[in-house]
Amino acid sequence: MSAVRVIPLQAGDCLNLAAITERGAPWRLQAYPAGFSLLLHPVHGPVLFDTGYGESVVQAMRRWPGVLYGLVTPVRLHLQATARAQLAVMGFAPQDVQHIIVSHLHADHVGGLRDFPHATFHLDRAAYEPLRALRGLKAVRRAFLPEALPADFEARARWLPFQAAPPDLAPFAQVADVFGDGSVWAVPLPGHAPGMVGLLVPEAQGLSVLAADAAWSVRAAREARPPHPLARAAFFDPSQEEASGAQLRAFLQAHPHARVHVSHDAPEGWR
Ligand SMILES: [Zn+2]
Repeated sequence: MSAVRVIPLQAGDCLNLAAITERGAPWRLQAYPAGFSLLLHPVHGPVLFDTGYGESVVQAMRRWPGVLYGLVTPVRLHLQATARAQLAVMGFAPQDVQHIIVSHLHADHVGGLRDFPHATFHLDRAAYEPLRALRGLKAVRRAFLPEALPADFEARARWLPFQAAPPDLAPFAQVADVFGDGSVWAVPLPGHAPGMVGLLVPEAQGLSVLAADAAWSVRAAREARPPHPLARAAFFDPSQEEASGAQLRAFLQAHPHARVHVSHDAPEGWR
């Protein structure tokens, strides 16, 4: 079987204060891409890791309480820039996407789920359980917009089958073989959001590490560059977030040639 190929993409971006994302950075607004990845799988075809923003988020932000999400995190999205529109340009119809791996349920990662009606959603059960009952302000406070999820989300969700990781994946203790063929591995990176996962993808050129929101920048994924305390306060579990960041850094130090992607920074090339 040939290897999976990872294509980094973005669907919209959000504005944030640079000083919040990294301690010591200037207090100015900066646009951060809402990144996601297309994984070209030799058997399963186009697989998505998140979707970036989508029309459903834009609609939710027009109504209370979603409007608050837009006030805290201004969103920019052109309709030609959704995951669905970009895949169409590449020749993939929505029904070609049978699998979407969801890193976590923040609105900037799941805004396009409704655009792929045939997809199964692979995620950590722990990402959904603490949020599933939240509505209104309680949900928005967690950057979760329930109306952005398809109505049949639960029926289409498949929980990642975590098991003990082999020693060469240290310090990750748990891993899930997403398709059961060794092509895509999910590892837990909880804290920023409950049950967040990253992916390890052995590509033909080498290993790609898709770290989702475990760091705000590629540099912060490789070196300890903590965000502002205000950003830490917004994490689901700050101490878990710190531990996940440390695990990611240790893994990248042990695999210095791996290519790392984070959701809100430009993708890194091969080293
Ligand atoms: Zn997030």
